[in-house]
Amino acid sequence: MEVRMQKNTQVLQVVVPPGRGPDVLLSSPVIQAAAKVLQQGGLVAFPTETVYGLGANGLDSEAVAGIFAAKGRPADNPLILHIAAMETLEQIVPEVPPLARRLAQSFWPGPLTLVLPKGPAVPAVTTGGLDTVAVRMPDHPIALALLAAAGVPVAAPSANISGRPSPTEAAHVTADLQGRIDIILDGGPTPVGVESTVLDCTGTIPVILRPGGVSKEALEDVVGTVELDSHVQEGEAVTDGPARSPGMKYKHYAPKAPAVLVRGEPPGLFMRITELAQELDAQGEMVGLMASRELLDYWRGQGIDQSKWQVMSMGSRTNPGELAANIYRCLRELDETNVTQIILEGVPAAGVGLAVMNRLQKAAAYRVVDA
Ligand code: AMP
Ligand code: MG
Repeated sequence: MEVRMQKNTQVLQVVVPPGRGPDVLLSSPVIQAAAKVLQQGGLVAFPTETVYGLGANGLDSEAVAGIFAAKGRPADNPLILHIAAMETLEQIVPEVPPLARRLAQSFWPGPLTLVLPKGPAVPAVTTGGLDTVAVRMPDHPIALALLAAAGVPVAAPSANISGRPSPTEAAHVTADLQGRIDIILDGGPTPVGVESTVLDCTGTIPVILRPGGVSKEALEDVVGTVELDSHVQEGEAVTDGPARSPGMKYKHYAPKAPAVLVRGEPPGLFMRITELAQELDAQGEMVGLMASRELLDYWRGQGIDQSKWQVMSMGSRTNPGELAANIYRCLRELDETNVTQIILEGVPAAGVGLAVMNRLQKAAAYRVVDA
């Protein structure tokens, strides 16, 4: 039987003075203490603009092994290295291709992760044994101050137990990792709400391995053609052969109750979702829904009784940024109810909506119906 060391997790509030950048935080005693814990091989959860990350010194094998243990993450699912300055990139990747450099200049700091050929400084445990490494510069004053103070590249996957929705608030991190890590920096809710876009830059044409906070359209504006990995496009889990991004193999973000994703356009979409909810209700199921504001308006207009359903409002269908910011909180909140069947409303896949749809497909374990 495994005997796990119980850690005394400290939750520390970090307040960012309005209108100020990371510099003002560098001297903060809380940031200094957290940076020291990282330098000594410990685990620190911190906010980024996407979701909360669980950080360790990415060049220290033992510290990185601690991340996998705390999350229960499969060892072959590699981590993203987070950096605060361009100079650090050269330590990790000896030869940065010109195209990758252009992308970094355009989108960093920001929710874009570049997959590049790895240099010898990066230990195998960080990259899950791959000869490539994933790197990004987060756009969050607390993350940037912590990374600068630590002075090392910080490996940081999402700060959740593997298989749970990514955390977008410090309370989500506490719920999953209390007693397993050293420090949680609480910087409030994360603005983007979905993870970074993972872009493979090892070939001539960049390939999106995971849609995220930077849209395909925005990437194409800078570098022309960008491809979508076929597994992302088809919305299927990789069950055959090796995945280009090991994370694709794993079923992420799944709520406790089984979920189904309904795709289509209103009003047909709204009619189909309503029928399905009424059917499940009649079968004695406790129905949970992730719905847009427009669906709620439709129910009100049609006088549909939704009082027995647990409804989480994700925001407007016309505002993918709002949907992204709310999706994981809604999934977690549904998990805290007694629902037995979940219906997820499909949204337009343009812009960041592509990342939202990708996460909804995963939450539904690829059970999708078309309206
Ligand atoms: P997370 O940090 O939990 O958001 O997950 C990081 C994602 O980046 C996973 O889907 C990984 O499989 C992917 N990733 C990290 N490093 C690499 C790499 N070297 N090659 C391809 N995908 C990677
Ligand atoms: Mg994750």
